[in-house]
Amino acid sequence: MISLQICEEKKRILSKMKDEVANCYKCSQLCETRYQTVFADGNPMSRVMLVGEAPGEEENKLGKPFVGRAGKLLDNILKALSWDRNDVYIANIIKCRPSQNRVPKPEEISNCISFLERQIEVVNPDYIICLGSVASNTLIGKPVSEARGQWFKYKNHKVICTWHPAYVLRNQDAKKDVWEDLKLLVKDMRESLSN
Ligand code: URA
Repeated sequence: MISLQICEEKKRILSKMKDEVANCYKCSQLCETRYQTVFADGNPMSRVMLVGEAPGEEENKLGKPFVGRAGKLLDNILKALSWDRNDVYIANIIKCRPSQNRVPKPEEISNCISFLERQIEVVNPDYIICLGSVASNTLIGKPVSEARGQWFKYKNHKVICTWHPAYVLRNQDAKKDVWEDLKLLVKDMRESLSN
């Protein structure tokens, strides 16, 4: 019963925040080209939150994170862990698509980051997975190439970093690294439950 109430409360707060994001006009360039903002997907009660970079073309059309080619790969990665989107919560560092899929500018990240900070606070995941360097640089101050394979902390959340699925699409060899990184995560999750 209590967890049902917590879930309802999280959904209520996140839904208000989603409206706030949709009404944000801080980044004039992004607002000009966005079809819509992309807030999040998945389960706000999950122990695991995935953080990507920014919406791409498909996400901009559909209003959900990771629904393009990189998203299909992400779904397959989750499937390999016997998970689906409902087992995790998925958000991005920024909520609007940068045109031509360019990397978000530092001022766009600083305009938007408080939304992610508040999403993290509400979802309160045990684990955050940074997908790629925009997420890892923003949350732990290191590029993914340096951060992979180690544990970090963001506030009271354990952080692990792995390659962005879009990078894996271009570099098939990186797939095994992602698998190694996620095995670390699953091992820690199992151990934390048995302690
Ligand atoms: N890449 C991201 O980082 N996020 C998305 O939502 C889609 C592609």
